[in-house]
Amino acid sequence: MQHLAVQELTEHLILPFGAVDIDGSFDNGIITHEYGHGVSNRLTGGPNNSNCLNNGEQAGEGWSDWLAIMFTQEAGDAGADARGVGTFALGEPNNGPGIRRYPYSTDMGINPETYGLLAQSSEVHDVGEVWCTVLWDLNWALRDLSGFDPDWINGTSGNNITMALVMEGMKLQPCGPGFLDGRDAILLADDNLYGGIHKCLIWDVFARRGMGYLADQGSANTAGDETEDFSIPPFCQIPVAPPVLNFLQT
Ligand SMILES: [Zn+2]
Repeated sequence: MQHLAVQELTEHLILPFGAVDIDGSFDNGIITHEYGHGVSNRLTGGPNNSNCLNNGEQAGEGWSDWLAIMFTQEAGDAGADARGVGTFALGEPNNGPGIRRYPYSTDMGINPETYGLLAQSSEVHDVGEVWCTVLWDLNWALRDLSGFDPDWINGTSGNNITMALVMEGMKLQPCGPGFLDGRDAILLADDNLYGGIHKCLIWDVFARRGMGYLADQGSANTAGDETEDFSIPPFCQIPVAPPVLNFLQT
């Protein structure tokens, strides 16, 4: 049904001389993105403050892109799929590059973005791309672990867990958060909501994109002064099996 509606809209919006003028207001991802700004601005920094995402390393554009691709994911999708934002408005297929530097994908050959990329551009959408990338990876790590449920109200699958963690993280993070503040808030959300059972999965996901155990945020007011790191904390490293103490058995 959705695809038929898109096709109908596209047909209606074809202008004379073959030009196509597709209004971005018909692009579900764009609308979700814009409403997403209301969500992240409202939740960050407590219930009485909607002015907490003005710092240089804030990830508002990232949450907005992430909400857009979260709510349009489907059961048959794969994490490595390329997911562009703004593709409909550009007349591209869903796997087109869209309006970002890279489409979102867990495949680092398709989307190679890591924390260190903030040093190349402090433009707000460029900053947000990196944040959305790691949150999208988190969704797929949890989908791989706990599956997918299209029921956003009652579902308890991986996508539902991801949504709960990220939404709760927004509420827990401080005013003017940097990326590592956001990561730590998601870890705290996991403690609060799930007893911390996803802790090492979360660390794995963030470490893969340079927000690992020894990463340094620098100033949350600045995008570009970060130090990326790809390590996981010692408590998440698989313990080496103790040597079999044969001599005790003799
Ligand atoms: Zn935006």
